[in-house]
Amino acid sequence: MGAHVPERPAGPRRPPRGTERRAAPEVDGRHRLLGRVGQVITIKAKVNRAFKTSMEVGIKVTVQDVLTNVEKIVSVAYATYVVKPVGAKKIELEPVKLLSAEDHLEHALATERKRIRLGYQEVFQNLMQESNKEDDHYDTFEEQDAVSTDLTHVQSIELVQPPHANHHGNTFGGQIMAWMEAVARISASRLCRSYPNLKSVNMFKFWGPSVVGDRLVFNAVVNNTFQNSVEVGVRVEAYNCEEWIKNQARHINSAFLIFNSVNDKGELLTFPKIKPTTKDGVRRYHGAIARKRIRLARKYMLYAKEDKPYDLWEKSNQAYMSYSNIATLTYLAAKPGWEVTSTLNNIKIWTHEDGDVLSLKVEMQVKTASHVAFSLLSNFTYRQQWDKRFLTCEVLQAVSEDDKIYYITSPPPPMTGHQPRDFVILVSRRQPLEPSEPYIVAVKSVTLTSMPPSSEHCRSEILCAGFQIYSESSSSCRVYYFNQMTPDLIPYLAASLTGSLNSIEDTALECIKFLELKGSKC
Ligand code: ADP
Repeated sequence: MGAHVPERPAGPRRPPRGTERRAAPEVDGRHRLLGRVGQVITIKAKVNRAFKTSMEVGIKVTVQDVLTNVEKIVSVAYATYVVKPVGAKKIELEPVKLLSAEDHLEHALATERKRIRLGYQEVFQNLMQESNKEDDHYDTFEEQDAVSTDLTHVQSIELVQPPHANHHGNTFGGQIMAWMEAVARISASRLCRSYPNLKSVNMFKFWGPSVVGDRLVFNAVVNNTFQNSVEVGVRVEAYNCEEWIKNQARHINSAFLIFNSVNDKGELLTFPKIKPTTKDGVRRYHGAIARKRIRLARKYMLYAKEDKPYDLWEKSNQAYMSYSNIATLTYLAAKPGWEVTSTLNNIKIWTHEDGDVLSLKVEMQVKTASHVAFSLLSNFTYRQQWDKRFLTCEVLQAVSEDDKIYYITSPPPPMTGHQPRDFVILVSRRQPLEPSEPYIVAVKSVTLTSMPPSSEHCRSEILCAGFQIYSESSSSCRVYYFNQMTPDLIPYLAASLTGSLNSIEDTALECIKFLELKGSKC
């Protein structure tokens, strides 16, 4: 679809075909660029995954410069739709058909994004507790030149009319989002006296429907400013005629929108500091800081360049680290161009070259049930039993049932005479939602401030490693081991290719033996 339009929100105006009876409860998105008058924008949307009663729709907006033909991403958003059954009959969504490799990837990652969405509130509450500013009183905000948040309060009221609603009379989610953006922009403009550009949206969450005839009240206020950006919060409440008289509001939506603004030369404007004037204002002021920390973590995790990974383990980024751990392994496994390097009985070794990045894949046929192999391989304290590269292994943090941080020590790589090495790694594991999907155990290095490098060991790094385990029968599975090679791993590969004893095949054989022996006792 191509359209000749100026900037507008990225969210969908209508639900996808066949889902008209469903509400759009959440949209989360980021604007990277602005589409300008005269440019052609393309909006693509696709159901990435249908869960039982909810589905994730990925939306990508790109802009094409008509003169240069260059296409760039304007905005990316993920919308979740939930089924709202009519009557008592239960509805279960049909799974989507996956046609391309990209479909498979997005399908796998949709589960991870759902996990992050579900865990968001907990992460936020943890950060709010950490900021522990309960005794922070608005009287103590005595910053010079700070602008009172009262000046940024904007209220608007809209009457929902038929063009704003679908054929069931429910207001379009996109319409509400557009109204929200408009009030938020006016609120932000009070601080910069120029046109604020929408940079990102911290989740539009629809709490309940509104219908034709409702009055929607939009309240917006600046929660906090950060050098070149400002967070505006908007709360939407609906009233029908009766509720209006009784002053009984229905909470429809709340969202936090981030704006920036540029001057004539295209330079970012600096926003003044703000001063909350109520207890709620102070809470929201700190809430905006917590949301910014989560946003930054997400940005670093999802958009960090491979050569500069952001790996500091903090409260605000744990969910994204875990996402990135699983996602990086899923991407590596799905790359086209894996080549078989050697085949031995039930072991196959593959390599993949991508520029100067070399990755290894070891395929193993194992006579053990997949769920047993998964539980044995995801517990790294067992690893010494089959992998000579693991001297010691201890759990540093059991973050959750599925995410653990380990400290590993390892002998020096063969034929190098270097120091012994050590690693601090995050191991994230996931069980499949469908039988055709693999069990996943993903591994990557993280930086823990409580575990700095020591002089006895050379601190080493795992960029991306792990296992995918596919079920073959009730008592056998196919295990794939992956490792994106860092320079200190190359000697292992070299040793293996030249037939040294410490070879990858030997380790794989040990792994199979361990899984089959241990597995038979389970
Ligand atoms: P919270 O207060 O926890 O942030 P709400 O859903 O109540 O959550 O509100 C979302 C945002 O909407 C607030 O952060 C604030 O920016 C804005 N808001 C809420 N109520 C008002 C109001 N009465 N006047 C102005 N802005 C408001």
